[in-house]
Amino acid sequence: MNFDAIVVGAGPAGSTAARGIAAAGGRVLLLDRAKFPRDKPCGGGVTVRCAELLPFSIDPVVEDVVSRARLRMRDGRDVERDAGGVLTYMTQRRRLDAFLVDRAQEQGAEFRDGQTVTDVRRIADGTYEVATRDERHTARVVIGADGANGIVGNRLGYASIPDGAAALEGNIAFPDGVPARFKGKVVLNFGYVPGGYGWVFPKGDHVNVGVGGWKHAAGPRLRAALNHLCRLYGLDPASVEGLRGHTLPMAAPGMTIAALGSAVIGDAAGLVDPLSGEGIYAALASGTAIAPAVTDFLAGATNGLEGYQSTMQRELLPENRASAALLEIFQAAPEPFIWLMQHSGAFWQGACRLVRGEATYEGLSYILGAPSHALLGPTAALARRVNLKRHPRR
Ligand SMILES: Cc1cc2nc3c(=O)[nH]c(=O)nc-3n(C[C@H](O)[C@H](O)[C@H](O)COP(=O)(O)OP(=O)(O)OC[C@H]3O[C@@H](n4cnc5c(N)ncnc54)[C@H](O)[C@@H]3O)c2cc1C
Repeated sequence: MNFDAIVVGAGPAGSTAARGIAAAGGRVLLLDRAKFPRDKPCGGGVTVRCAELLPFSIDPVVEDVVSRARLRMRDGRDVERDAGGVLTYMTQRRRLDAFLVDRAQEQGAEFRDGQTVTDVRRIADGTYEVATRDERHTARVVIGADGANGIVGNRLGYASIPDGAAALEGNIAFPDGVPARFKGKVVLNFGYVPGGYGWVFPKGDHVNVGVGGWKHAAGPRLRAALNHLCRLYGLDPASVEGLRGHTLPMAAPGMTIAALGSAVIGDAAGLVDPLSGEGIYAALASGTAIAPAVTDFLAGATNGLEGYQSTMQRELLPENRASAALLEIFQAAPEPFIWLMQHSGAFWQGACRLVRGEATYEGLSYILGAPSHALLGPTAALARRVNLKRHPRR
């Protein structure tokens, strides 16, 4: 079958790209190896800034709405803060991803699930051939939305993406309703997992518990950290169901994410926010940014999809760089930052503004004062040395 564009992977990145290309009149095939609805290791937290990237509401798949946070450094004081408005929508990925695929299909994208892509290559006429176990398709454009080190990037020669972080999560059922101590709020625990944090996220009839951090430092300790997190918040570690681990890809600066008629988006491009581990935002942002680049290319207005790379270099990648720098600084000395989040109105509101998309990491480092913004890079480099000394890479 011949298409204008083939999108491999129907997570939030792929379905958003397929929706945008189809809405502009492109003939799009969206392929996923899983049978939908499918689950995926994820906390299912959709921040306000993330939800606002969509031109429709995700209300039909929202299970709780979070406006408060319980913040704690290790076993220290648990301080609850109210954001005075919505911070994050809680969903389950099996529901969110199927909902987003439906929206792409409504715009005319053709979706085929249970189709594992086994090969991708550029053929003589400059089009791409995408093979599944049973079928072969061609298209002028191929988009890799197939997660970290997916087959599209791999076969087309994109650099492989380092697994910066690793996380472990599972669910604890509350068939009679989630207890009030978890409803409408996120529990965030810092200090146990190097390079990350532990969480308890409320859903309709269960809570999602998880821990994530730097893969080299946190990886081997995740199970013990998850057990500890459960006990700390009065949950039984033995009642965690569907325990799943996964890595979070984080691209090194300057990596190529588009070439000729191909591009990688979302986790396939390593776009996860280093400080928060939030990846759905970047999946939607990159899925949105690729569509006009594809439309222009198909119309003959450009020679490739490099416009997408420029958009990301202008908008998202500087944010991820600032986030990575702030992560190093935060992890070198988390105590004062958590104390400020717990006790300073300005600091807490600054964090809330970030989650709502009213502020940026770059803007935040400017708010701290122009000299400190200039010092961000050197301070992060110093902090990184401290962090690496504490948690050496093997
Ligand atoms: C434990 C954990 C918790 C997280 N919690 C959050 C959170 O609360 N909020 C948040 O914003 N982010 C979170 N993230 C990050 C987030 O899950 C990812 O960044 C996000 O899913 C990326 O979306 P994507 O569309 O790029 O890729 P994915 O959602 O991974 O989708 C990739 C798709 O490609 C398909 N695929 C792969 N290979 C092939 C192939 N060969 N052929 C066909 N199809 C293929 C897969 O089946 C999959 O459906 C978390 C991550 C982890 C690991």
